[in-house]
Amino acid sequence: MREMKPDIDEPKKKRKDEDSGELDLPLGELDAIEPEQAEADSTEDDLDENPSEDGEDKAPEELTDDNEEITQEEIEEEKAYEARRAARAERNRIRKLKRRRKRMLVMSLSAAAVIVLAAGIYFGDEFKNRVQDMQKTLAENLNERREKAEMEAASAKADAQKKEEVTKEPEKTADQEQKEAEDRLIRRARRYGKQYDYDRAIKIFTDSELYEKSERLHKYVEKYKKKKASCVAWPIEEVTHVFYHSLIVDPSKAFDGDYKTDGFNQVMTTIDEFNKITQAMYDKGYVMVSIKDMASVDENGNMVPGEILLPPGKIPFVLSQDDVCYYHFMDNNGFATKLVVDEDGKVRNEYINDDGSVSVGDYDMVPLIDRFVEEHPDFSYRGAKGIIALTGYNGILGYRTDSSYETRPDDLDRDKVEWLDAHPEFNLETEREGAKKVAEAMKKNGWLFASHTWGHLNVGEISMERLQRDTQKFKENVDPVIGGTDIIIFAFGADLNQAEDYSGEKFEFLKGQGYNYFCNVDSQKYFVQLRDRYLRMGRRNLDGYRMYYNPEMLDDLFDAAAVFDPTRPVPVAPMG
Ligand SMILES: [Zn+2]
Repeated sequence: MREMKPDIDEPKKKRKDEDSGELDLPLGELDAIEPEQAEADSTEDDLDENPSEDGEDKAPEELTDDNEEITQEEIEEEKAYEARRAARAERNRIRKLKRRRKRMLVMSLSAAAVIVLAAGIYFGDEFKNRVQDMQKTLAENLNERREKAEMEAASAKADAQKKEEVTKEPEKTADQEQKEAEDRLIRRARRYGKQYDYDRAIKIFTDSELYEKSERLHKYVEKYKKKKASCVAWPIEEVTHVFYHSLIVDPSKAFDGDYKTDGFNQVMTTIDEFNKITQAMYDKGYVMVSIKDMASVDENGNMVPGEILLPPGKIPFVLSQDDVCYYHFMDNNGFATKLVVDEDGKVRNEYINDDGSVSVGDYDMVPLIDRFVEEHPDFSYRGAKGIIALTGYNGILGYRTDSSYETRPDDLDRDKVEWLDAHPEFNLETEREGAKKVAEAMKKNGWLFASHTWGHLNVGEISMERLQRDTQKFKENVDPVIGGTDIIIFAFGADLNQAEDYSGEKFEFLKGQGYNYFCNVDSQKYFVQLRDRYLRMGRRNLDGYRMYYNPEMLDDLFDAAAVFDPTRPVPVAPMG
């Protein structure tokens, strides 16, 4: 059996505060990774053999226009569909606006009438003139308001009409309508088909009223059945797992020569590198799967092996990202500052520019992967995205969700005190609501969350009592925001024990706390241990250190020389 040797870099920095679990120096907060020579194991090189083959069988002759590739036509179709939706939303908005204006007018008029009436009753003739003046002013105001409302409504209507003209379709025949209804079903099914969920694609057709009489839909069902039959089950124990830390948006700030530069250079990845790696892995046939596709858990806490069915040539991998908290020490160092949900419900980042203005965009892994999958749905297996590992002490996802920000204990970390001083408007509930909104949008998009321990602790070294206290803090401060998790990704690439299998009080404690999936760091192509009560998985760091010192260990994924960012200082500092 394979000996598990996690890459551990002992936290060299002395812990300042045993209780808070926070570390003394900022870079101790990142997982520093020790290099390890890959064991030459030529039998495992089969990953390299057919990597670029697409594996998607060609669509049958009569379905060539419906090839699984995203065609320009399809993109246009989607755009037109989106435009129609937008026009519809705009019309609804105007209708609502009009109704509101009308209600306001009626209410204002009623109020005016009541005032006039009351004034008449109470003040009699002597105030008649004044009342009449009031009436006049009121009427003028009302008229002005009405005119304004009408003008706004008219202009909004014109806008909507303009939009509609662009997307208006000619009169339809019954045949056309049927074809369009079929198109809609096909479009929905295609998304599932592209993500290898052929059963669900088929169900969309067979559940439809149109199915019985539509030859076209029958052909699609046949096509998806064929595709499913062509898939092969990938061995669960041969699934690779790669991970990143927060991505560097501005290398000139991350690598500015200050005391954090070496650490960032070792364990971080730039956006440019990340995008190149993602594209390269996609081109090789890699497909993101969920760790929960590998095994599920039954009601007794026992693991049930999963099945990953992919077309030949496709290679599953699990993705994760550690420390997605946007720690204080990363401020002004060229990283995004938080995750947010934009008005379309998409998850984005905030990035603070040099002049203090805030840009909203795709500045870290989560939105970048979301965008990539929008363009390339076949990069995700049945909608799976990655696992986001969170500590709690600085809050999560860029929100200051930890109770310590509110209780402000005497020994509160200096950067928290500074942050609180700069943010007198801080409100714990608001922060938690903000983070919750992001977490919910992410979960809806296929993302999973994991504990990275609340205090970024080395689980192999700490006492049992410390592990209990830390877990409690995670359960109180993080779980309610993310909705709980049964995945733990150990900080520092540490592991519970060095024995072949998990056992002992720390494992029993974590299992008792509901954890079923355990991840460390490992430099092998894959390390998967599926046992009755847990799934344990090694992860490979795709960062400056690995690309610089062990590029050959990444050959199955991408060409490190082509990816390595020329803005990085070299040599990358050695560990330790
Ligand atoms: Zn970490």
